[in-house]
Amino acid sequence: MKKLLRKLYDENNLKREEIIYLLNNITKDMYPIIFEMAQNTVKNIYGNRIFIRGLMEFSNYCRNNCIYCGIRKDNKYVDRYRLSKDEIIYSLEEAHYLGYRTFVLQSGEDMYYTSELMVEIIQEIKTKFPDTALTLSIGERDFYEYEMFFNAGVDRFLLRHETATPNLYSMLHPNMSFENRKACLYNLKKLGYQVGAGFIVGLPYEDNEVIADNLLFLKELNPEMIGIGPLVPHPQTPLHRMKPGSVQKTLLFIALTRLFVPKALMPVTTALNTLDEDGIEKGIKAGGNVLMLNLSPIHVRNKYEIYKNKESRDVSEIKSIEKRINNIGYIIDMSRGDHIDWLK
Ligand code: SAM
Repeated sequence: MKKLLRKLYDENNLKREEIIYLLNNITKDMYPIIFEMAQNTVKNIYGNRIFIRGLMEFSNYCRNNCIYCGIRKDNKYVDRYRLSKDEIIYSLEEAHYLGYRTFVLQSGEDMYYTSELMVEIIQEIKTKFPDTALTLSIGERDFYEYEMFFNAGVDRFLLRHETATPNLYSMLHPNMSFENRKACLYNLKKLGYQVGAGFIVGLPYEDNEVIADNLLFLKELNPEMIGIGPLVPHPQTPLHRMKPGSVQKTLLFIALTRLFVPKALMPVTTALNTLDEDGIEKGIKAGGNVLMLNLSPIHVRNKYEIYKNKESRDVSEIKSIEKRINNIGYIIDMSRGDHIDWLK
């Protein structure tokens, strides 16, 4: 066991059967060693800096029916909203004034925002805030649309792969396929985006094979960003009877992923903070190095309810967050916070 962990720490890779053996035999007393390895790994690359992003959830309309997601198309109880270009810019102005230099624009898959409208929004943001990195997280689009957004100035794109086990992917995402998800991720890579993938912990049928699929897929894709968060069941979804994903397992998988893809920027996810009030500290100690704070207008914030009691931290809370981060020996970094290979 120790040999395997040493190998992972030194070589940042393991074979499938080694991953399975590790996951089958790992015991709780080994977690602190793995967390320390993950922290050392990230500190050697990015130092003790935690990168801060501002998250704008600009529409909760969605054409998809992911069976875990509260804003799925068939959830009739969702109070749907869309923000206009001016409403988006207004909120970004405030965050920019507070020092934020990365904006993440996220929504359901809402085709109201045509590629032309998206380009208009992107161009205005990039003109108004030229010193700021822009990330999109709007789901699956065609290659040529991703190309239009990239040429308009988008720097990064988040599209979690959710699970890398094709059958499970199909079960969770009606009318969608892992094949297409993967094609989208590779298209984004090809175009030159900093790409974000990631998976949900605690999905139905999750076993160590499923986790191995995730780790091997991430190793192969080598994304610049990786988001890993626990499932938080939503009462108005088919998965309402599921138990929430385990916080401990989520932390373990963050740490292992850090060892597989050392240079990735890895957020401490909102879902983790929702399930554990010390989620920020625990996530950082497991190898996370990014934190996203919410900058959506207050009147729509509760409506972007992918799960119940979503714990979102406001951009203005940066001072209290900074204290918490300082207390565990880290500092906040408000710069664009690009992937290390982009800085070179
Ligand atoms: N539509 C975009 C997409 O598909 O990438 C972005 C929005 S989607 C709501 C953002 C993420 O929320 C998903 O990638 C998924 O992992 C996460 N999510 C949705 N429902 C969740 C739940 N009940 N528990 C945990 N994470 C959830």
